[in-house]
Amino acid sequence: MKDAYMVFVLMVVVMTPFLPLLWKNKCPACNKRKLVGVERTPAPEDEGRYLTFFACQNCQAEFTREKSGPLFRSDSNCRSQSL
Ligand SMILES: [Zn+2]
Repeated sequence: MKDAYMVFVLMVVVMTPFLPLLWKNKCPACNKRKLVGVERTPAPEDEGRYLTFFACQNCQAEFTREKSGPLFRSDSNCRSQSL
């Protein structure tokens, strides 16, 4: 029984770094788990802040999060599109 427990612990340790990849974030706009991290160049006024950028694969909404704070929508027209 102890061996089975050790195998379980090892699996958890091995899997943990991959969980954020498997577990997509929920989109606040359409409530679907289609939110994926995207690479964005921060605006000049945002430099030095720890910003993470997300885009929804379902409704195309874009969100920004500062550190581990709440998501706020960032696909307004005031930002230049990088597409
Ligand atoms: Zn969405």
